[in-house]
Amino acid sequence: MEFFGHVIDGKERESLDGRRFDSIDPYTQEPWAQVALGGAPEADLAVTAARKAFDEGPWPRMGFAERGALIHRFADLIVEHSDELAMADTRDMGKPISDAKGKDVPRAAQNFRFFADHARLAMAEALPMDTGHHAYTRYEPAGVVAAVAPWNFPLMLESWKVAPALAWGNTIVLKPAEDTPASATIMARLALEAGIPAGVLNVLHGYGPDSAGSALTEDPRVDRITFTGESGTGRIITGAAAKNLTPVSLELGGKGANLVFADADLDSAVDWSIKAIFTNAGQVCLAGSRLYVERGVLEEFLERFVAAAEALVIGDPKDPATQLGPLASQEHYTKVTGYLETPAGKVLTGGLGEGWVVKPTVVVDAPADSPIQCEEIFGPVVTVTPFDSEAEAVTAANDSPYGLNAMIFTENLSRAHRVAAQLRAGTIWTNCFFIRDLRAPFGGFADSGWGREGGNFSREFFTEPKAVVMAIKN
Ligand code: NAD
Repeated sequence: MEFFGHVIDGKERESLDGRRFDSIDPYTQEPWAQVALGGAPEADLAVTAARKAFDEGPWPRMGFAERGALIHRFADLIVEHSDELAMADTRDMGKPISDAKGKDVPRAAQNFRFFADHARLAMAEALPMDTGHHAYTRYEPAGVVAAVAPWNFPLMLESWKVAPALAWGNTIVLKPAEDTPASATIMARLALEAGIPAGVLNVLHGYGPDSAGSALTEDPRVDRITFTGESGTGRIITGAAAKNLTPVSLELGGKGANLVFADADLDSAVDWSIKAIFTNAGQVCLAGSRLYVERGVLEEFLERFVAAAEALVIGDPKDPATQLGPLASQEHYTKVTGYLETPAGKVLTGGLGEGWVVKPTVVVDAPADSPIQCEEIFGPVVTVTPFDSEAEAVTAANDSPYGLNAMIFTENLSRAHRVAAQLRAGTIWTNCFFIRDLRAPFGGFADSGWGREGGNFSREFFTEPKAVVMAIKN
């Protein structure tokens, strides 16, 4: 069985007491790998290594071009190891290999390349003053970054944190989710192979509460915490950070509204709406899990949508033909199926599959206050609700504690802009889904997060902007 260790100060290692845990393949429901199980002592070692690499090492003191070249070499190695990285995520959490290899690994490499280039090319403010002074901004690395990641896009979301932190000269302790540890260790091995110095990217394995996660986020030597995961965990981590006044960036849960107007291109709306809820078996923070369809096209839309949902290929995630695999773990399967045991509403298609599979599930007539309609299910379950006017659609979409994203399908340009302006969500996609420009702000309103990352927004978080004011002698 494969073993994945912590990577601390440039070495892959066991925990001090040698404890390990199994990573379960959700398709076979058998362990496929063993992983070092860290806790407070290993968190201490990892933060000590990152602290030393930041305070004394070359990484924060390197020029952007030199650092950027090493990050590009790292991205090259990620591409060269696509098969290994993709299979690690597929075995850890049941993600279809075609997505892991075709989307997640290339996007991880792109994240590294983008932030390396963005940092090297970034402009800073120069402020000529009327008083005979001149002010300018320097963006200094923030220090030691604790990056705590979820299991749904393991490598890709870890790279979204690690890439800007590295590019701006920080050192990092990455704690991957306990369900998806493998690709993080492989990534850290590749960082060392690329020539990124020891102690710059450390990986710490373990659980969250009373384990590696809490020890890491409570450590006062950490300068930034970037967290992606559940809103409840975000609240706990923010509490820990508050004690040390450590700035936190939170990318949390979602319950995305997807508005299909009668004037939409229905073929395109059905196609994107299927992707929006059934990609990664619905285990997507951005999932379009609340579909609202204008009544005039409801019947036609549902007919096509249900047919497309039933046509998705369910199977072994290691098979390139598979479009929907099992849910990531038994615990998560139990949570998702709990929503289907007493469905509030009528199930048009879907339900339980084999093993930990939940088939693409479409529910109509769910009451507005039912858990299936209001809570983040994080599975392949969508509710479909009719609406009669633009105002009603906007009100329904905004009726959620979450505000991560929303989708609008319409051919009416003015309506698209008008509705986008009124939706309380961090990303609005019109006639598309999941398309990203890495310069754009990414994050959520309300319970969906705190702060934004992406482009200059990542620079704000991963640096300490410093004002330098100079007197100019006459
Ligand atoms: P989770 O909150 O259970 O765990 C996320 C990470 O936090 C894991 O590494 C876990 O070990 C760690 N953790 C848990 N408790 C902790 C604690 N007390 N202290 C420190 N660390 C702790 O989330 P999950 O189940 O892994 O991920 C699913 C959630 O993530 C969903 O709510 C989803 O919407 C959200 N998500 C959000 C985004 C986004 O960009 N907004 C992206 C992906 C996933």
